[in-house]
Amino acid sequence: MDDVRSVDVLVVGLGPAGASAAHIAARAGLSVLGVERNRLLGEPVQCAEFIPMPMGAYARTGGVLMQRISGMKSVLPSGRVHESGFPGLMIDRAEFDRTIAREADRHGAELWTRARLTTLDAENRVATVRRAGEMRCIRYEVLVAADGPLSPVAAALGMEPLDVVQTRQYTVPLLRPCGDTDIWLSDDYPGGYAWLFPKGSVANLGVGADRRWEDNLKQPLARLHRQLADAGRVGEAVLYRTGGAIPVGGLRGRLVVNRTVFAGDAAGLTHPITGAGIAAAVISGERAGQAAAAYLSGDADAFGDYEEDVRDQFETAVNRAVRRRRELAGYWRTAAANEDGVQRKGWIAFDDYFESAAV
Ligand SMILES: Cc1cc2nc3c(=O)[nH]c(=O)nc-3n(C[C@H](O)[C@H](O)[C@H](O)COP(=O)(O)OP(=O)(O)OC[C@H]3O[C@@H](n4cnc5c(N)ncnc54)[C@H](O)[C@@H]3O)c2cc1C
Repeated sequence: MDDVRSVDVLVVGLGPAGASAAHIAARAGLSVLGVERNRLLGEPVQCAEFIPMPMGAYARTGGVLMQRISGMKSVLPSGRVHESGFPGLMIDRAEFDRTIAREADRHGAELWTRARLTTLDAENRVATVRRAGEMRCIRYEVLVAADGPLSPVAAALGMEPLDVVQTRQYTVPLLRPCGDTDIWLSDDYPGGYAWLFPKGSVANLGVGADRRWEDNLKQPLARLHRQLADAGRVGEAVLYRTGGAIPVGGLRGRLVVNRTVFAGDAAGLTHPITGAGIAAAVISGERAGQAAAAYLSGDADAFGDYEEDVRDQFETAVNRAVRRRRELAGYWRTAAANEDGVQRKGWIAFDDYFESAAV
C-alpha cells in the first residue's frame, strides 16, 4: 500500500451529488478528493435525462441542453390520454455531470476516476481506494457518501440497503419530433411505469418495475418499442442500452453518521414514484459540501442543520410517494391495476394523487 493521503473531505462517487459536494467544499477552501469507480465521469449514462425547469441554470454550458419539454402525456390503461403542463429540459446527462465536475476541478478538488472505495474504517476516518490496480489509503475529516442507490459506504457502515426498482432503457431514433414526455401507466409495468422522453432526433424509451412482480424488463420494453415503431413514432434501431436501480423507499433514517454525510440517491432522495433524482442530488450535494465546510470551521450544528434542511426540502413529497407506492402494491397483478381510477391515484399528473394521499 502506498503512503497515506490526508484530506479535509473525501467524496465517494462523482455523479451529480458527489461532483456538487466536491465543488462547494473546494470553493470553501477545503482540500477535497473525489473518487469515482468509473473510467469516465458521467459515463455510462444511466438516466432518461429530464431535468425540471428550476435546474435550467445547470444546463447553460454548451453541450448540456438538448431540447425543451413543455408537457406530459400520461396514458391510462384504457388508452385515455391525460395532458398536463410539465416544463423541463432534456439534457446530455454525461455532459451535465462533467460540467459540475469541471467546476469542482476548477476550484481545486482532486478528482480520481477508476478509483473504487474498497474498505472504510469510519471510526478512525480512514478509507481504502483501489486506483488503477493500486491500493491507496485516505485519511479524511468528513466523508460525503454520494455513491448512488446501492451505496457501498452505507453497506460498510452496516446500514440497511435502500429499496429499489429496476429499470431498462433504449435510446431509439425519434421519427416525429415532439415537445412532450409520454408516460404509460398499467399493470405491464408493476411498481413502475414506461416512458418516452424526446431528445432531438432520438428519444429515451424505458420501463421501470418492482422485482416483486416483474423481473424481466426486456419483454415489456421490447413490446412497447414494437408498438411505437409500428405506429411510426420511433425507429427500430436501438442506439444505446442502459438501466439501473432507483431508490423508492424514502429517505434514510439518518443522513449523517460518523461524520459521513449522505447525499443524492445514496441518501434515498429520489422521488419514489417518478424516479427523478438529479435535482435532489445536486441540491443535497451542494448542501453537503456546505455542511462539511461549516463543520470544519467549528460549527458543531452543521450536520444537524444539514439533516434538518434536507428533510424539510424533500421529505413531504418523498413520503407521499412512498405511501402511494404502498397503496398501489395491493393492486399489482390483479385486474384492478388496469383500472384508470387506480392508476390516477398513483401518478403525479392527476389531482387524485395529491388529494387521496394522506401524508
Ligand atoms: C434508467 C434511469 C433513468 C432515470 N431518469 C431520470 C431522469 O430523467 N431525471 C431525473 O431527475 N432522474 C432520473 N434518474 C435518477 C437519477 O439518475 C439519479 O437520481 C441520479 O443519478 C442521482 O445522482 P447521485 O449523484 O446521487 O448518484 P449517481 O449518479 O448514481 O452517482 C453515484 C456514483 O458513485 C459511483 N460509485 C458507486 N460505488 C462506488 C465506489 N465504491 N467507489 C467509487 N465510486 C463509486 C458510481 O459509479 C456513480 O458514478 C434515472 C435513473 C435511472 C436508473
